[in-house]
Amino acid sequence: MARRDGGPTPFAAPVSRRLLLGGLATAGALATGAPAMAQVRQAGGWDVIVVGAGVFGAWTAWNLQRQGQKVLLLDAWGAGHARSSSGGETRLIRTEYAANALYTRWAWESLAEWHDLARRHESPIFQEVGALYFYPQDSAKIDESIALQRSLGIPIEKLTGAQMAKRWPQIDFDGLTVGVMQPTMGALMARRSVQTLVADFVKAGGSFRTLAVDTPRSDRVSLGAITGNGETLQAGQYVFACGPWLPKLFPEVVGGRIVPTRQEVFYFAPEPGDDRFAAPHMPAWVDAGDPDLHYGFPDIEARGFKIALDGHGPKYDPDGTDRRITDQGLADVRAYLAKRFPALAKRPLAASEVCQYENSDNGHMLVDRHPQWSNCWIVGGGTGHGFKHGPAMGRYVAGLLLGTGKAEPDFTLAAHKVHG
Ligand SMILES: Cc1cc2nc3c(=O)[nH]c(=O)nc-3n(C[C@H](O)[C@H](O)[C@H](O)COP(=O)(O)OP(=O)(O)OC[C@H]3O[C@@H](n4cnc5c(N)ncnc54)[C@H](O)[C@@H]3O)c2cc1C
Repeated sequence: MARRDGGPTPFAAPVSRRLLLGGLATAGALATGAPAMAQVRQAGGWDVIVVGAGVFGAWTAWNLQRQGQKVLLLDAWGAGHARSSSGGETRLIRTEYAANALYTRWAWESLAEWHDLARRHESPIFQEVGALYFYPQDSAKIDESIALQRSLGIPIEKLTGAQMAKRWPQIDFDGLTVGVMQPTMGALMARRSVQTLVADFVKAGGSFRTLAVDTPRSDRVSLGAITGNGETLQAGQYVFACGPWLPKLFPEVVGGRIVPTRQEVFYFAPEPGDDRFAAPHMPAWVDAGDPDLHYGFPDIEARGFKIALDGHGPKYDPDGTDRRITDQGLADVRAYLAKRFPALAKRPLAASEVCQYENSDNGHMLVDRHPQWSNCWIVGGGTGHGFKHGPAMGRYVAGLLLGTGKAEPDFTLAAHKVHG
């Protein structure tokens, strides 16, 4: 998010906050391929099989099912499982996107759909704790972004360093002069919301199964069937929304276009009885003045004060066997806390997570038809900022499959260069 939450950034370039806050590269490439293929319900009876029940696959399946498609959703380890990119505790939703019109709009529209999902279910999916960006200095880009958000009706406040210091005395705002506060944004309960969505999909008639799909193979111009756990399954169209596993499933097509990196997340226990680091006293926040782009969440559901850095960690295999945080990572985050959240710098680590970003080279999502198989779609590249956009992504992918949507040039395979 954070890196991402400053705006999408190429994986190849060392990401500076400044770059994140800068404008996005314009696309040169155009969407590949022919119009969406006619719907052919195969012998197996499925219109579409969606592989991967993370946030992108789940919303894709949900949208297709709502539009009358017979959909089977598969995941090797279950919806929103602990090692998936969608399996963490919380994900930030914010519309502060360096004035990028597409992601600002997608996040805003998605928020309404997250609210709708939450209303249909009892367990909390979204916590409206607010989202605060702090910046070292004012810029035309900040004003442009605020103006864009206001034009969409998004509540937003611009604050001075002094105003922030008065409102949140538990944060040290030294060197920060501007804040952008979005009171209606906040934290999506990531794992829970994906699992709730899949339950919603199943309740409405969709099918979900635990099944590990093999690398797809076909010498023809379309994919006839997929296999997994000794079974063969057929559908008219296939969507592979396999997050950080996409490069392993499609080494020639995706390998190098999406690079998973290891990201560490920390939760700290405040002093007993100290509620200054819990909502409503503390919003979710992004320190846009920090070269590593630290970001965090208030203590939500008594998990602890969450903090992580958005800078890319080392390259990582999502099937890697070690998901322990490093001593260095913990020391670095404590050093940051000493600067901005001094009351937490020496507090006990309450919990931790190791997850992976699925970074695309240009920081944009990757959604395109497979270059050889006209009925096979690749959906991923959330690049550390994708979760919030799940609902919009689901609608977008469904539109492409059903031939009603228009491709975003930045999302195509052609727009994503391969890293060496
Ligand atoms: C630490 C961290 C913090 C983040 N913070 C934010 C944030 O604050 N805000 C935000 O908007 N975004 C954030 N993101 C990004 C966001 O979480 C991801 O972009 C998003 O979750 C990606 O979802 P996905 O569905 O593409 O992938 P995943 O959630 O990984 O889902 C892919 C699924 O595919 C399944 N799969 C893979 N291969 C197979 C196979 N062969 N057969 C069957 N199933 C298979 C996997 O089991 C997995 O469940 C963050 C990410 C991380 C790691």
